[in-house]
Parts: sequence; C-alpha cells; structure tokens
Amino acid sequence: MSVKIKGNQWCDRCQRPVAAVKSTHRLRNIGAVVMAPFTVGLSVFAASNDAYACSACGGPVRAISKPAVSAKKRESDQLKGALLIALIVVAIIVQVLRHIS
Ligand SMILES: [Zn+2]
Repeated sequence: MSVKIKGNQWCDRCQRPVAAVKSTHRLRNIGAVVMAPFTVGLSVFAASNDAYACSACGGPVRAISKPAVSAKKRESDQLKGALLIALIVVAIIVQVLRHIS
C-alpha cells in the first residue's frame, strides 16, 4: 500500500486549500462509502475518477491555478458589465416607447 501526498490542492467541498492524497483503492473505497449518503452518483463517480482525493473529506480536488481563476473572474466581470449595459439600454427603450405612446 502506498500513499502519496500532494500539497496545494483545492477542495470544492471544503472550500479551502487542502493536501490531497493518492492512495490504493482500499482507502478510496472507504472515502466513497463515507461520502455516498451525502452525494449523488455523479460526485462519487468523479471522486473515483480522480487520482487524488481531499485528505479531509475524501472529495475530488483540483490543482490551484491562479491564472485560470483570475481569467474566469475577468470573464464574469465582463459578463456583468454587458448585462448592466443591456439593462440600461432596455430601460431607455422603455422610456422612449412610453414617451411616444
Ligand atoms: Zn475536502
């Protein structure tokens, strides 16, 4: 039995950086059994599909990638800006239509 520990991983379930463990099927199965009552089949499948698992909750982890996160945030900020502009345009159109009729 071998257990490898990998630092600097992010656990979505714990919402914090965690140490991930890569282990034999035995430990992974224990994690799946523990988590099964709380999760649907999809996340169990995802956990069993992932080589590394959260050392705290046994859930799936992913590498912390700061550039990817900031790119995603920038994208969502742009989306919010576009939505705000669309709302303003719609408000102006409504005002104009009210004025005409
Ligand atoms: Zn966790």
